[in-house]
Amino acid sequence: MEKLAVEGGTPVRSTKIFYGHQWVDESDIEAVAETLRSDFLTCGPKVNEFEKCLTDYTGTKYAAAVSNGTAALHCACIAAGIKPGDEVITTPLTFAASANCALYCGGRPVFADVNPETYNINPERIREKITDKTKAVVAVDFTGQAVENDEIRKICAEHGLIFIEDAAHAIATKYNGHQVGTLADMTCFSFHPVKTVTGGEGGAVLTNNESFYKNLLLARSHGITHDESMMEESPHEGPWYYEQINLGYNYRLTDFQSALLISQMKKLEKFSARRKEIVKKYNEAFSKIPEIIVQKEIPQSDTCRHLYIIRLNFDMLRCSRREFFDAMSAENVQCQIHYVPVYWFPYYKHLGYEKGLCPAAEEIYKGIMSIPLYPKMTDEDVDDVIHAVRKVAENYRK
Ligand SMILES: *Cc1c(COP(=O)(O)O)cnc(C)c1O
Repeated sequence: MEKLAVEGGTPVRSTKIFYGHQWVDESDIEAVAETLRSDFLTCGPKVNEFEKCLTDYTGTKYAAAVSNGTAALHCACIAAGIKPGDEVITTPLTFAASANCALYCGGRPVFADVNPETYNINPERIREKITDKTKAVVAVDFTGQAVENDEIRKICAEHGLIFIEDAAHAIATKYNGHQVGTLADMTCFSFHPVKTVTGGEGGAVLTNNESFYKNLLLARSHGITHDESMMEESPHEGPWYYEQINLGYNYRLTDFQSALLISQMKKLEKFSARRKEIVKKYNEAFSKIPEIIVQKEIPQSDTCRHLYIIRLNFDMLRCSRREFFDAMSAENVQCQIHYVPVYWFPYYKHLGYEKGLCPAAEEIYKGIMSIPLYPKMTDEDVDDVIHAVRKVAENYRK
């Protein structure tokens, strides 16, 4: 057996590889430079052009580009009319922003447990959490796998809830042949550099509903409108006139970020295909290692995976997760953990949330680890990661 690097052996690779990395090439840089030389740095034509890329790609009616994925979720909650006292059901196995967006509106996040095999929110657990105060569901396509859209839509329809899909991980994923973006009442994307396409920062909310769309635009830009049909004062003083009719924010995306995103969208199919290729290799390799549990895929989801998560089978390992993580790091494969259950954080604890709320999510959390997955990985990189996982698992085998 090969000696672990953490115990003085030779590492699998000589340079560190990280769990995620953007792919920005010369055509992206040229697109940004061209926009920087143009008349508009913000509020210009590139923003609309990027929004059209999103609606064309997904087949959705409207897209509102915003400054980041968190702003997208906040705008969606505003458009959904979340008010103090309202409850919003979400998953604990996510980035904090999926729950924070309800708090921004004075609402209360309610955590529904996940499916122990897919790690996505369990529709049955959503049903159990519905009360008179429930207004919306924020369901996260965790790792890029689509949530059980049909079931969640049905529950939302039955109870008059608004379905917000946090698809920060899931651009290019399809559910029953339909692009993520067209499925929920509102779908939120993030364009942070670790996500599948990037604007440095950036986000968007997609919807087929005109009324939500109008409210998203107001939330994005100070609650100000230039649309005469929405104004109170009519006729008004002149062409300079606009009205603030709500309290909104400045959540706008710039034109040079939009230019980068338009350029990135041209490569989305290539990015997606490469991610799928790597996931296939990983699935094949890890299904043969009994110490590793592979995330289950539902057949409805044609997934463009953002994260690849291995789960440690502690029945067969004599190490802790921390020891496995440190051993991988010594092999020069830098993993990450996605995510600490949101309600475990001190801020949530102080709001009264207690450990034990979602036992399946907590159990999954104890054994998960995100390994490198990004389209720029070479075949050698992929082989190195598989080699490192196998090496560490064999060394710690019971
Ligand atoms: C990244 C992410 C967000 C937030 O997006 P930002 O662009 O970083 O604000 C929200 N939800 C999930 C699930 C994410 O992964």
